[in-house]
Amino acid sequence: MRKYNIRFNIDALKFCSEASTVGEGYLFLVAWAFCVDPEEHSTIVPALEIKVESYSGVQKVYSVTANTVRRDVVNAHPKANEICGFDFVLPMPFLPRQTTMNFRVGTTLVHNFEMPVHLKSIHATGSDITRSPIINVRFYTDFPVCNFRCPYCVAGHGEAQAADLAWDEGRFERFDRIIENLTRLPMKLNVRPGVGGEFFLSKRLVEGAKRLVSADNINSVNLITNLSIPLIQYQHFLTDVDPKKIAIVASYHPTEIRNQEAWLDTALWVNERVDFAVILVGYPPLIPQLPAVLDRLNGLGITVFIQGFIGSYDGRKFPQQYSLEEKQSLRKLCYSRHDYEFFIEARKPGFCLAGYNSFYVDMSGVVRACGVGGWPWPFMGNISENPQVTLLPGPHPCINDTCLCDTEYINTAIFAEYYKHTGLNQHKYTYKFKELAARFPQLDEWNIPYL
Ligand code: SF4
Ligand code: SF4
Repeated sequence: MRKYNIRFNIDALKFCSEASTVGEGYLFLVAWAFCVDPEEHSTIVPALEIKVESYSGVQKVYSVTANTVRRDVVNAHPKANEICGFDFVLPMPFLPRQTTMNFRVGTTLVHNFEMPVHLKSIHATGSDITRSPIINVRFYTDFPVCNFRCPYCVAGHGEAQAADLAWDEGRFERFDRIIENLTRLPMKLNVRPGVGGEFFLSKRLVEGAKRLVSADNINSVNLITNLSIPLIQYQHFLTDVDPKKIAIVASYHPTEIRNQEAWLDTALWVNERVDFAVILVGYPPLIPQLPAVLDRLNGLGITVFIQGFIGSYDGRKFPQQYSLEEKQSLRKLCYSRHDYEFFIEARKPGFCLAGYNSFYVDMSGVVRACGVGGWPWPFMGNISENPQVTLLPGPHPCINDTCLCDTEYINTAIFAEYYKHTGLNQHKYTYKFKELAARFPQLDEWNIPYL
């Protein structure tokens, strides 16, 4: 029989329940696991079977074989580089006491062990912060096809061996169902569909965006694109939808764009019609080029912001190990103090309104406070099944050490304290105390204590 060596880590195994429902609740599991096949010198992601036993001896078995690579979870684990991480939310009909975890590769049992369940009922406190009348939704679709191969791609397209695996019909149907249920939610929404590739390469995704825009409960739809698709396709899209409900962020990837002038023409055309911004990545070898790109785009009237690089380069882990010189360069280019603090300094987030004024959903349909993972919150809904979401009753301190996502860190209380959006675009906002700072330089966004 083949021998596999397993490496894994269970970061959290917690049972959470509402105070009102004795026994019922949700089991949260945050973990990573992979097996090494010494004969093939390869790694394999095992399937996991969890047997849960209640205090009264009732047993229930869950197979969580869908170990899709959750890079956001993997990235949160320094020791789990390049491997598979996952988080699951399993509905529990009873109070669980103990689990038995069986890792399998095919039919081979690679490892098993018992683990007691940590009982935890966490509730966000009520708050005097008023709930926003419009809820921000980040819908991460994981659509994996891209026509670019950026060296810093967090979705893995830059890796030489990376192959794009197209979605099957079942995946598109699930996407359609989630879109449909978003349009049926009894709340006003700003929706930000995300991808692990290029959004405009899929007609089905574009059709889904159109359905969102035409729904009465949708206030805005924020899309991200590498802007490499022929201009005519963006023109068709924007004639089919109300452009006043659309915002677009275009990522600029200098190593991939073949015709810079055509890219700029498309950017200018889109910029005239919708709330538009361009994003540049602070990838270390590209930092010296960024000032010229930023100046050119700004000179054309286009808003530009910088995202920190997430990953490894030259033996350093980013964004945590930017050199002082790199930080000084990026600081001058950053759109705001907020971007700089969260994405370049990788600061600890603090108090956050995620789950209260916003929610995150991925292709599982399970609703979470945010997409960074590991959250021990009560079940908020599953919108692949029905149009119901229970928002958290209040803001809460963030459980994570960093929040490296420009769509997520605008949920923080410190953002709401100092900044306000200027329109529909998730990345266009202004420092609230700009006018005061013009008279009192010590109140400039870069001079205030950002705590
Ligand atoms: S365009 Fe985006 S998804 Fe595609 S390779 Fe570049 S960074 Fe990755
Ligand atoms: S700060 Fe970021 S990671 Fe923390 S709860 Fe808010 S959105 Fe999530």
